Amino acid sequence: MDEPGGLYIHIPFCTAKCHYCDFYSVAGREEMIGRLVAAIIAEIALGDPAQAPRKIDTIFIGGGTPSLLTPGQLEAILKAVGDHFDLSGLAELTLEANPGEIAPGSLEAWRSLGINRLSMGFQSFQPDLLRFLGRLHSPETSLAAFDAARRAGFDNINADLIFNVPGQSREQWQSDLARLAEMEPEHISAYSLTVEPGTELDRKVRQGEVAMPPQEMDREMLIQTWEFLGAQGYAGYEVSNYARPGRQCRHNLHYWRIEPYHGFGPAAHRFDGAVRSWNIRHLDGYVERLEMGRSPLAGRELLTAQERYNEKLAFGLRLREGISVTAALGFEDERAFAGHYAELLDRWAEAVVLEQENLSLTRAGLLMADAIAADFMALPPTDLFAAGVGATEVA
Ligand code: SF4
Repeated sequence: MDEPGGLYIHIPFCTAKCHYCDFYSVAGREEMIGRLVAAIIAEIALGDPAQAPRKIDTIFIGGGTPSLLTPGQLEAILKAVGDHFDLSGLAELTLEANPGEIAPGSLEAWRSLGINRLSMGFQSFQPDLLRFLGRLHSPETSLAAFDAARRAGFDNINADLIFNVPGQSREQWQSDLARLAEMEPEHISAYSLTVEPGTELDRKVRQGEVAMPPQEMDREMLIQTWEFLGAQGYAGYEVSNYARPGRQCRHNLHYWRIEPYHGFGPAAHRFDGAVRSWNIRHLDGYVERLEMGRSPLAGRELLTAQERYNEKLAFGLRLREGISVTAALGFEDERAFAGHYAELLDRWAEAVVLEQENLSLTRAGLLMADAIAADFMALPPTDLFAAGVGATEVA
């Protein structure tokens, strides 16, 4: 396969666990950083089970808190990547960095490593909400980190904010959006807080200590976000993501367009266009396996044609650009798609646009993207699918 793909590296260390977070991360294990770095380099040298692609145009170092690694450790990982993959077309190299956890001199060192995009987890500018979320930084720390990144020459910065937080008013959210827009990052991810099983937030909700805002509030804040950020020159290109022209996150677009990507590190996933596989979700287990020269692979599944179709629909409909009903979904032409889905296209006439072989949602439709995708998935064009293959567990 010649098309370039993405490459993800997972660094699972965090200084403390945020109350809402279900990413794989561990707190208080910094003594393992050196061994983890060596293990990731060993995994890259072992060869990724995903055979494609060799050409990489985006790298995303996420976590966890990868900014806890020294520049020398990041350099060693990137050198290993460069030794095994073709990086001649690398366009985007992102590092996640938490405000307040950036060592002096790091920003300049990251720039010299070729890191050209930072993703910073501000989450809120309200001290009480930051405490509720279990974040360690303050609003002032976020502002200082952003200014320092600009001074170091970063001209492509994403900032994350969270809405739908218990106790958060629409005025507070408006104030956060306005404050961030004034800073003029190139990209903004504005996520609705969800209760993930097993998190501290989940425990509090189940024990009645905290009540999540009503669904209507969530919807109103999403509309508020689109309208405000749109007016500030940030186009919403995915349900939760906004960018200045040309500044969409190319790496995430690989995921959302169901394109191939590699993954290294504990709990990392990868996809080669047909098979998705994932690593063991355990720091010690991951490191020990690689120290013994063994693969950290925990499982893999060969997606059936119908599963691939469903994923393309579910993610494609969350993108403002939508999805091609021919190239991506496999219909012969727009008429064939319209014939198969005549009833649904009628039912969702206000929400769905089918134009020039492209299916997309209106802004109102994007509010219901998941429900609409579920309706389309419930009526699969089975004649387009080859014989299905089920999931396979290994290791
Ligand atoms: S810093 Fe990020 S990865 Fe770490 S616990 Fe908080 S949200 Fe999760």
